[in-house]
Amino acid sequence: MTETHDVIVVGARCAGSATAMLLARQGLDVLVLDRAGYGSDTVSTHALMRGGVLQLQRWGVLDRIVAAGTPPVRRALFHYPGEATARITIRPAAGVDALYAPRRTVLDPALADAAAEAGADLRFGTGVTGVLRDDSGRVTGVVAQDRDGRRLEAIAPLTIGADGMRSTVASAVGAPVLRRARGAGGAFLYGHWDELPVDGYEWVYAPYASAGMIPTNDGRTTVFVGTTPDRMKEARATAPADRVVDDLLRSASPSVADRVADARRPVRLRGFAGEPGFLRQVWGPGWALVGDAGGFEDPLSTHGMTDALRDAELLARAVRQIHAGSLPELAALAAYQQSRDRMAGRLFGVVDAIGSYAWTMDGLRPLLREAASAMSEQVEELERLDPLPVVTGR
Ligand SMILES: Cc1cc2nc3c(=O)[nH]c(=O)nc-3n(C[C@H](O)[C@H](O)[C@H](O)COP(=O)(O)OP(=O)(O)OC[C@H]3O[C@@H](n4cnc5c(N)ncnc54)[C@H](O)[C@@H]3O)c2cc1C
Repeated sequence: MTETHDVIVVGARCAGSATAMLLARQGLDVLVLDRAGYGSDTVSTHALMRGGVLQLQRWGVLDRIVAAGTPPVRRALFHYPGEATARITIRPAAGVDALYAPRRTVLDPALADAAAEAGADLRFGTGVTGVLRDDSGRVTGVVAQDRDGRRLEAIAPLTIGADGMRSTVASAVGAPVLRRARGAGGAFLYGHWDELPVDGYEWVYAPYASAGMIPTNDGRTTVFVGTTPDRMKEARATAPADRVVDDLLRSASPSVADRVADARRPVRLRGFAGEPGFLRQVWGPGWALVGDAGGFEDPLSTHGMTDALRDAELLARAVRQIHAGSLPELAALAAYQQSRDRMAGRLFGVVDAIGSYAWTMDGLRPLLREAASAMSEQVEELERLDPLPVVTGR
């Protein structure tokens, strides 16, 4: 059987659910398919930056994150070897007076619920295997399969890939990579510690090592360590993951390592081997990409979810123009590409440099300042956008 919708979104995490929510709020008939289960976890730490919090607040979703007990973050601390800790207060700006780091089991379902409440039809446990095209090559929909092996064909004027860095949609449509990171991308180990008090986001930088402590739900603190993929591979070949975490932390900041050693360590650590960053073309006839499907940057930025929420907003605006008849599809989607590239490009470049670990401590500081400035620039641009109107009564 073939179903028909206004928009099909593949992927129902921060990029997909946010996009679906915004489109459903415009009165569109939106189908969302995700092969994972509702509320499942994924490989990601979860520090949101100001642009992401701004979006959640505007959309009325931040209250759910706060209600889930996600602690507010009002300071960022920077630990450098042999120096006093630098403390930066998160000043109220752009309507945001605190940052938050909700677990993905909190953020993703909050956005999925908001999308469902707006009228989107979300189906979990359903994987998209390919796209449909018409005779001109235009993408017209998707082919999918649920966990019981039932095949689904759905057609729509627009198919949106929000299906992560290894996007099925991006590869099915042949979305070209427009920009590649020079570095290999950092490798990480992380887990969620109990009884580890922190004073906000705490970041650690040392030669060939990075680490972070991120306060999150259930009174836990997420601890991550990062280094180059080669160094991580070598370390993990000779020591268990918890030893690698301890050794990397100790090499970067003995005082932070002592605090972490005094806390209750997690049962499970998760790893990420590293992936070079990229920015893809994010649109073509009948398709568009949001979030990691359209561009992936080194997780050291802790900006991927914020990027995903930005893309959802930018693409939803383009789709609105198409449906209102104020811009033809190709012009609206090309404008989406331009704004995504303009907003993402500067941060992408500096994150690539930081994630390469090819810096001295003196060389790192201007890079961190540049990253902060690039993030602020994005916030300013998002702040200038008028809120999208909500259409009721589809
Ligand atoms: C180790 C690590 C740490 C990170 N830490 C942070 C951080 O602190 N802060 C931050 O902002 N970002 C962080 N990131 C980045 C962040 O995880 C991503 O940017 C974010 O998850 C992108 O969201 P997304 O919705 O685009 O894609 P994803 O979260 O990857 O979601 C894609 C969804 O698509 C579904 N899907 C995939 N293929 C199909 C298919 N064929 N059919 C149906 N469904 C499909 C998947 O099941 C998944 O649910 C980190 C990343 C890593 C790897």
